[in-house]
Amino acid sequence: MSDQKSKAARDKPEKIRCEACPVMCFVAEGKLGACDRYANEGGKIVRCDPLTVLDRRIAAGDEIRPFLKSEWDGSLVNDGDLFVSAVGAGTTYPDYKPAPFIISREVDGADFVTVVTEAIYSYCGVKLKIDTDRHLGPEGAVVRAAGEVIGLVVTSEYGSQMMSLGGVGHLTGGSKVEGRVTCDALMRLCNKEAVELTIDGGVQIIVQAGQPPIIDGKTEHRMRVGCGSATIGMFASQWEGLVDEVVVVDDHITGVVSEHQAGKVLGWKDTGIRIRGRRSTPGRYFQVAEPGLGWGGTDIDDPLNILNDWSPKKGAVPGLSLLMVSTTGEHSGFYVLDDDLVPKKQDMPKALLASVELIAENCEPALCNVLFAAGAGGSLRSGVTQNPVRLTRSVQGLKTNVTCGGAPAYVFPGGGITIMVDVMKMPDNSFGYVPTPALVAPLEFTLLREDYVALGGHDEAIRELADVLEFGGEYGDAVRAVPANDTPQPHKLGKK
Ligand code: SF4
Repeated sequence: MSDQKSKAARDKPEKIRCEACPVMCFVAEGKLGACDRYANEGGKIVRCDPLTVLDRRIAAGDEIRPFLKSEWDGSLVNDGDLFVSAVGAGTTYPDYKPAPFIISREVDGADFVTVVTEAIYSYCGVKLKIDTDRHLGPEGAVVRAAGEVIGLVVTSEYGSQMMSLGGVGHLTGGSKVEGRVTCDALMRLCNKEAVELTIDGGVQIIVQAGQPPIIDGKTEHRMRVGCGSATIGMFASQWEGLVDEVVVVDDHITGVVSEHQAGKVLGWKDTGIRIRGRRSTPGRYFQVAEPGLGWGGTDIDDPLNILNDWSPKKGAVPGLSLLMVSTTGEHSGFYVLDDDLVPKKQDMPKALLASVELIAENCEPALCNVLFAAGAGGSLRSGVTQNPVRLTRSVQGLKTNVTCGGAPAYVFPGGGITIMVDVMKMPDNSFGYVPTPALVAPLEFTLLREDYVALGGHDEAIRELADVLEFGGEYGDAVRAVPANDTPQPHKLGKK
C-alpha cells in the first residue's frame, strides 16, 4: 500500500511555485495559477499573454498579430516605431528586484530607458463618466455590483454623471465577497467589458467603456447640447420670428427665452409666462421639478407641469405660441394659448422642427468613459530604482514620463505618483487581477538614460530593445504587436 502511495506521489506532476505576487501559487504542469495569468509550461512559470509591443507601423484598426521578427531590421527598433508596453511583461516580486524589463532605446540620437512592469494595485479604482441627463441616483448614493457595495455616485458634470468605484476601502476594508466583487467589476470595466450596476434609490445601469449607457433597459443616445440656459444662448436667434416663447426644460437650469439675456438682446417681447421653480437670474430657473428619467433629466412627462398660469398683465394673449424642448431635443412640443390663456398642443411647424433637429444634431453621442486611477508611488518603485523617492521626484519634475500600456497617464499634483488613465487608449485586456484581491495593470516609466542612472536605477539590468524582442524575459519570449495609440514620444522628455 505504501509502495502504491509513493508510486502515485512519484507519478504526480511536480508543482512549481509562481513568485509573481504575494499569493505564491503552486502550479501543476499544464495548469494555470489562481489569477489565470501565469501557467506552468514544461516546468517553467510563463506569462500566458504575450509581451505587447505598440507598433506605429500598424494602422489603427489593423489586426493584432504575433510580432514577426523577420518584419523588422535592426534600424527600425531605434526610431521610435516600437514601444514595449508592460502588457504581458509580468511582475517581479518582491519589488526590490529589478522590474521585468528595463529597456534601452535610442531615439533621435538620445539614449532612453523604459522600465516596464505589470503593477499590482491595492490602491486603485475607476472614475466613471456617464453621459446622460437622466437622474441615475442621488449624489452620495451607493453603487452596487452583484449586490455588493463597490462605490458611490458623485457629482453631476456638464452633461455627465460621475461615479467613483473601487478604492482600497472596498478592495480590502470590507468583507471577502465585497473585495472580490469590487476587484472583478473594476477589472471588467477596465478591460472594456459591460458591467451591470445598481444604484440605491436610483436606476439599474449597464456601463461599458466607449459604449452608450443602458439605463433601466433603455439605451441613451445623446449627450445634451448644454444646460437649458446655454441652449437658449446658442439657439435664441434661430427661434426669432418663428415662435413667441421658448422654454428649454432642464433639471439643473431651465431657460426661458423671453426673460433670458440672449432674448433681451434680440428684443424678445414679454409673454407673461410663469415658471414653477426657483428663479436664479432672469430667464434661468432651478428646481422646476424633481430629478428623474423624463424631460431634461426631470421626472416630468408633460412639460406643461412646470408652468403656472400665464399673466395677461405681462403680455400673455390668446394665440401666443410656445415651443418647449429638452436639452437633447429628444422631447419637444408646440403649444398655442387658447382664449383662456391655456396652452393647447398643436402640430410643430416645419421651421421650428428644424430648430429642434439642430439641437439634436449638436448633441454628441452619449458614452461611458472609464478612467483607471491608482497609486503607483509605493514599493513598485524599487523595481525601478534603489532610491524610490528619486523616481517620485523625477516623475513630479517631468523628467520621467508615465504610461499605462503605452497610454499617457495623468499624474496628480502633490506627493506620490497617483495616476489616472483612459482605458480606451490602452490595448484590449490590459488588466488582470491577483486574489489578494488587487488589480494588475501595465505601467511604464520612460526617461533619459543619464537621468535613470542618476536616480539610482538598476543599470546592470538594462537590456537592448532588440535583445528583449529576440529572447523575451523571465516569463517567456512570446511577443505580439498591436497598433500604437498615443504612445508618447521620448524626445519630448528631458527638455530643460
Ligand atoms: S495569483 Fe497569479 S501571479 Fe500570484 S502567484 Fe498565483 S499565478 Fe502567480
